[in-house]
Amino acid sequence: MGELIVHRGTRQIGGCATEIRGGGKRIFIDFGAELPSKDKQPELLAIEGLTHGERDCDGLFFTHIHCDHIGMLPRVLKDVPGYLGEAAKEMLLTQLAYLPEKADLMERVRSLSTYRPAKRVELGGLAVTPFAVDHSVYDSYMFLVETEGKRILHTGDFRTHGFRGKGVMLVLDNCVKRVDILVSEGTSLSRKDADFPTEMALQDEAHKILKSHKHVFLLCSSMNIDRIASFHKRTRAPKMFLCDQYQKEILLKVHDHAKDVVSGGVSLYDFSSLRDASQWNFDLMRQRGFCMPVRAAKHLRTVMDMFQDTGVLVYSMWDGYLEGEYGDDGIARLVDSFPNKIKLHTSGHATPEALRSVAAKVAPEIGIVPIHTENPAGFEKMGLASKIIKLSDGERFPF
Ligand SMILES: [Zn+2]
Ligand SMILES: [Zn+2]
Repeated sequence: MGELIVHRGTRQIGGCATEIRGGGKRIFIDFGAELPSKDKQPELLAIEGLTHGERDCDGLFFTHIHCDHIGMLPRVLKDVPGYLGEAAKEMLLTQLAYLPEKADLMERVRSLSTYRPAKRVELGGLAVTPFAVDHSVYDSYMFLVETEGKRILHTGDFRTHGFRGKGVMLVLDNCVKRVDILVSEGTSLSRKDADFPTEMALQDEAHKILKSHKHVFLLCSSMNIDRIASFHKRTRAPKMFLCDQYQKEILLKVHDHAKDVVSGGVSLYDFSSLRDASQWNFDLMRQRGFCMPVRAAKHLRTVMDMFQDTGVLVYSMWDGYLEGEYGDDGIARLVDSFPNKIKLHTSGHATPEALRSVAAKVAPEIGIVPIHTENPAGFEKMGLASKIIKLSDGERFPF
């Protein structure tokens, strides 16, 4: 008999950790940090055999590199075998090279093995097959776990309204088919403010903004590659697309990876003509115009100050960073202090309709386990044919 335990995430977004046992093996999917909150200290999760005691884990599989899924890696026993997507690992290592305070995470990320889309990882008694999904960070996956004659689909974080969103449904139709248990993210069932225009609609808006503004700063996550790619694609000469060395390195990692992996999507991720800070010329920037991804970093702030009067700041992140429990003071200050700004964003998570379609497609025989949501009951209101299994954190569910 197998067993499923959601150690964290049955009643919250972030800090994910799911355990699956079967065929004499024990694996974990994600081991994330809680979202940085102003109201409470993040809780560290201690799990015998994973974080302390003698190793009792045959694989720790990360769906993607958002901190709420991978942030607790430094707490994991050193001999636990970890797995991550190839480009995800490269991007994260590039990022961490700029964050000396995260040297412990960097060392652990280096030691991770990589998996490839649709290539089954066979542990003997239990197998994990990663399938690429569309999310707000490049190289994200869902996992099909097969053990004890059962098939369990763990969605990770995903959406269907991004550029590669249709691919999620095709994979479900052609590769995953029916499952016994669906462990599904349900972020949008609790975030009332979530907004879901398609990434393509945002690209059209980006086009309009770039046509009507000469000096454009784009404030978004440096890992939200599809968003940056949209602005990059729509920046037409004589306007220049500029970024700092850090952002350039991340984008070039994606460029190299996309050449082998993303068929038909190569042009979106063609970042070969990027200009980094060594090529910036402020007179030229003023004359020709530019689009530039920025972050709350001092050296970028200096550039933004020079274009306070003529520039526009496109705020392209979750509104929750600007105020409230999950507010980020650095981001809020940056946005506050820039006079001319436009909001342009869409959620990285599945719409309620997408959650419903996924559940209907894979038709889980045993049921649906909601995770990554503050509102697991939201699944019950959808009127799905499958049973909704509302677990508590740490509760054992035999299958
Ligand atoms: Zn997440
Ligand atoms: Zn995520």
